[in-house]
Amino acid sequence: SASDTKKMKTSLAIPVKKIAKSKLPEINFSNLAFGKVISDHMFVADYVNGEWTDLRIEPYASLQLDPANAALHYGQSIFEGMKAYKNEKGEILIFRGDANARRMNESAARMCMPEIPEEIFMEGLLQLVDLDRNWVPTGKGSSLYIRPFMFAMDNYIGVKPSDTYKFIIFTCPVGAYYSKPVNVKVETKWTRATEGGTGAAKTAGNYAASLYPALQAQKAGYDQLLWTDGKSHSKIEESGTMNVMFDINGTLVTAPTHTGTILKGITRDSVLQLAKDWGKPVEERFLTVSELVEAIENGTLKEAFGTGTAATIAHIAKINIEGKDYTMPSKGPEAFSHKVLAELDGIKYGEIEDPHHWIVKI
Ligand code: PMP
Repeated sequence: SASDTKKMKTSLAIPVKKIAKSKLPEINFSNLAFGKVISDHMFVADYVNGEWTDLRIEPYASLQLDPANAALHYGQSIFEGMKAYKNEKGEILIFRGDANARRMNESAARMCMPEIPEEIFMEGLLQLVDLDRNWVPTGKGSSLYIRPFMFAMDNYIGVKPSDTYKFIIFTCPVGAYYSKPVNVKVETKWTRATEGGTGAAKTAGNYAASLYPALQAQKAGYDQLLWTDGKSHSKIEESGTMNVMFDINGTLVTAPTHTGTILKGITRDSVLQLAKDWGKPVEERFLTVSELVEAIENGTLKEAFGTGTAATIAHIAKINIEGKDYTMPSKGPEAFSHKVLAELDGIKYGEIEDPHHWIVKI
């Protein structure tokens, strides 16, 4: 029930320097380009002498960086992505921020960066979003995208872990996201991640490395790649900035996370949790490309879809496998993805019960 909802706690005193003149009146909320409009303030913390210091909220502004900044050269840079939603009462609901804080620290450990205490992450985020609460758009489908990130601040030429870091959170109002069905191409030449690599970390270099292969697929007419394992290119891993799931004869199949080659999506986890709540069989195992072809050809594949913060659910319309296009079954109203999207939207906008306490209200 609503009374069970976690409430914002404000135990950390974070000094605020407010912007002289809000940019809000200049923003056209009916036409928001994703990620281009940024709210008035940002939260900043500096890691110096082994501790996080100088926590503050200040006007969003450019940074001054030394040309020898280690993040620019050696890539110690990690980030998160999450959203806040406004309900009809004007309350702001943050979805699973604690899970993003934990994932950020898993990324930090892999990239030899310091952890950010969950309290600093959450309090900075909640107090920032509260201050800029008028930037959270109203209306179903729209939200405030939240971008926490951390990067090396040492100015030093030479490969070694930086001693100093900066952690920043800023936010962007985003409009209703119409998740059009996507066409994907199974990648069998390029590799996103291998066992022992950095695939499970949300680190800048993973995205840089994906650009060239993804561009080749886009030139061939596909929206995104469907990545396969780096060794045999026979097992399906994930796609672009989404995990992928397949409904095969009523069983939900998605790649496992133990190999460390896929990002542990928070939408993925939420969808799996809801499927389990509803008694739908779930298998976290690798689906091979040949198994997928077989399931398409014998009609046992009911649907294929991606899961991620941007779209929540994106139906996959077409999959190219070794040069051949396969059309996926079209998503009917009875499809699992349809039901799970409605449930997640209901929870995120505070319209239905939040059985797993995923929401924090501001
Ligand atoms: N995989 C990758 C590579 C991603 O960048 C994302 C987006 N964070 C996802 C999967 C989906 O994760 P989430 O559901 O937490 O947004």
